[in-house]
Amino acid sequence: MARIYNFSPGPSVLPEVVLQRAADAVLDYNGTGMSVMEISHRSKEFLQIIEQTEATLRRLMHIPDEYSVLFLQGGATTQFAMVPLNLRRATGNADYINTGQWSRRAIAEAQLLGNVQVIASSEDENFTYVPRDYTISPDADYLHITSNNTLEGTRYADIPETGSTPLVADMSSEILSRVIDVTKFGLIYAGAQKNIGPAGLTLVIMRTDLAGRHSESVPTMLRYDVHNTAHSLYNTPPCYAIYVAGLVFDWLENVGGVAAMEAQNQAKASILYDFLDTSQFFRNSVATADRSIMNVPFSAPSTELDDKFIADAAAAGLLTLRGHRAVGGMRASIYNAMPVAGVSRLVEFMQKFELDNAGI
Ligand code: PMP
Repeated sequence: MARIYNFSPGPSVLPEVVLQRAADAVLDYNGTGMSVMEISHRSKEFLQIIEQTEATLRRLMHIPDEYSVLFLQGGATTQFAMVPLNLRRATGNADYINTGQWSRRAIAEAQLLGNVQVIASSEDENFTYVPRDYTISPDADYLHITSNNTLEGTRYADIPETGSTPLVADMSSEILSRVIDVTKFGLIYAGAQKNIGPAGLTLVIMRTDLAGRHSESVPTMLRYDVHNTAHSLYNTPPCYAIYVAGLVFDWLENVGGVAAMEAQNQAKASILYDFLDTSQFFRNSVATADRSIMNVPFSAPSTELDDKFIADAAAAGLLTLRGHRAVGGMRASIYNAMPVAGVSRLVEFMQKFELDNAGI
């Protein structure tokens, strides 16, 4: 089977070795004569899967014992509601920084449920940078950031210092791509479908003492303490997605862990940004210090040339490069599983496209 280079923002490329192991386990899990999809979530086989998956993640991210790891469903979007439902007091307030479309969604959801202060925004410059100037409200129950902005291609190079205010981060599009200090956060969440595994699984890493602050009206399924007490087995979890996430974590450990992956991600991003910085044709509008190493938006001089680029790239085996409709142009998502060779191929293609089309 010929595999193309898939630059999709998510669901996105997975390591081929993981796909092979996952495919084998679909037919027969470890000689059990059953598919991994057919075993009970209460079976000893599955309990071993979920325990090992958590243990590997804890090693990869150096997650301390004071933090819980939850394997949930509902996507990052459900976390937009669960975070305020669980961490904001009934009459409390929550601070948010608005760095793009996904922050906006998180803010809108929190506003449905109570008080929100947007203490900084980069909307004035079309979300091409990450704000550094803000003051956390004295009464904030937490500060929420989108640590990597999937559509706009920005990220927090440095994680904000929030003192005693818990920091909550949507890390959907960058979790496990760089070394982060978990102890700086009250809660981290991420949809799985970029750097973790298949869609359907949502990961939450939270300081355990923050669970249980919800009011009595919060539905059972939306309470962190319920999932924590039940070790993510309050109801049937997304078993297959958890299994594949475990394979991805094993793969990541085998290739050297998060620090090694960060070095490779930095190298991949540099190949692309170095070319963009010298190109007279393509451009990337993000402030240099705030550039994401996961999602790289760029554009050609006209929308016609953008369309031609996307079509020609697809014909050359470089797929899913269209930018989000809110941003336009192109976007290369170069998550952990995208090999260096894929980015090099993309840049070679861009160089040739520029030569062929610059005079048009
Ligand atoms: N936050 C960010 C930063 C995202 O990139 C996405 C999805 N692309 C979401 C939230 C929404 O995630 P989900 O579809 O898992 O709800």
